[in-house]
Amino acid sequence: MSDVKTLAIEKLKLLNPEYPELIEAIVVANKKIYLSLKTDKTKIDKFTRIKLQIEKELSAIDGIDSVSVSLTSHSESMQSKADTRAVTSGISEVRNIISVASGKGGVGKSTISINLAVAINQLGFSVGLLDADVYGPSIPKLVGDRQKPKKSKAGKILPIQKYNISLMSIGFLVPEDSPMIWRGPMVITAVSQMLNDVEWGQLDYLIVDMPPGTGDVQLTMAQRVPMSGAVIVSTPQDLALIDAIKGIEMFKKVNVPILGMIENMSTFICPNCKNESHIFGFEGAKVEAKNQNVDFLGDIPLEIDLRECSDNGKPIMLSKTDSTVSKKFLEIAKLVKSKIEDNSNSEKPNIIIN
Ligand code: ADP
Repeated sequence: MSDVKTLAIEKLKLLNPEYPELIEAIVVANKKIYLSLKTDKTKIDKFTRIKLQIEKELSAIDGIDSVSVSLTSHSESMQSKADTRAVTSGISEVRNIISVASGKGGVGKSTISINLAVAINQLGFSVGLLDADVYGPSIPKLVGDRQKPKKSKAGKILPIQKYNISLMSIGFLVPEDSPMIWRGPMVITAVSQMLNDVEWGQLDYLIVDMPPGTGDVQLTMAQRVPMSGAVIVSTPQDLALIDAIKGIEMFKKVNVPILGMIENMSTFICPNCKNESHIFGFEGAKVEAKNQNVDFLGDIPLEIDLRECSDNGKPIMLSKTDSTVSKKFLEIAKLVKSKIEDNSNSEKPNIIIN
């Protein structure tokens, strides 16, 4: 895939020797080329023509399904920035972006995101976690920290460092009790800024805790963010599964590989009588993963300990390392890692910044 990147730049040079100088970032991932061009906003018509010309030219490259060119002007308003920017320097040194998504809220997506982040870190990788669930940011609560992020010398936001993970959430920026009423474009703006204007630095993995659902916002994010793959979280219950399937379809539509499904709140073992019960059903996600032809990554039981650790701000992966749940998270992390490695052996996401 790095050949595709070189080829793309060569093609731009042939179109116009000055075009390569306009490149702010170029990412090749999942048969898609994401290109961000430095734009003079006073010449927007000219740059719109260039964008269309480049999209047409690069779409002809063998093995490429789509090309997304975004125009960047650093002095433009925040709103139009979000509409146009896809890939800029904030994530230039991030090797893999994995989104954790669910069709509906309350199924444990954030709980799984933080524990998966810690588990991947325990495998020896540098990890960041972006809380894109701006409707209900829960990462500050899950890590027991609400400090305000500081700015770097370059004026970028520095992620919060906690438990060896780089973290960013809208919850670090606004008071806990302030109502958040977001419209679609505002969500995209907020998420774009948390991706691009945060100094993520060198990361092996950036986990993105997606907003629940499969509406326009989620679709736009799946299209714009150069994701290496998506993990779908669901309870075994039919209602959650119907929405999870919509999530799988959404990612498939935009060519983001599905790394697999996780069944959360799977079984419940009564701490007193040790009887096993299936409050939200049993193996629903496992069966559906098979139906959808995606991998099943594992199940996480409904556990009081998991909920308590989360509420106390220290993920179970760090507070009860020997628990069954922690071991399960570690196994899931290993599977996710090997799936990403398998995918990138065939097509490696490649990010360069000019
Ligand atoms: P989502 O991000 O999908 O909205 P959360 O991760 O915020 O869901 O989880 C919703 C609630 O369920 C939280 O209180 C969380 O602690 C709890 N929870 C999630 N998974 C489990 C589990 N496996 N066992 C017990 N409680 C859980």
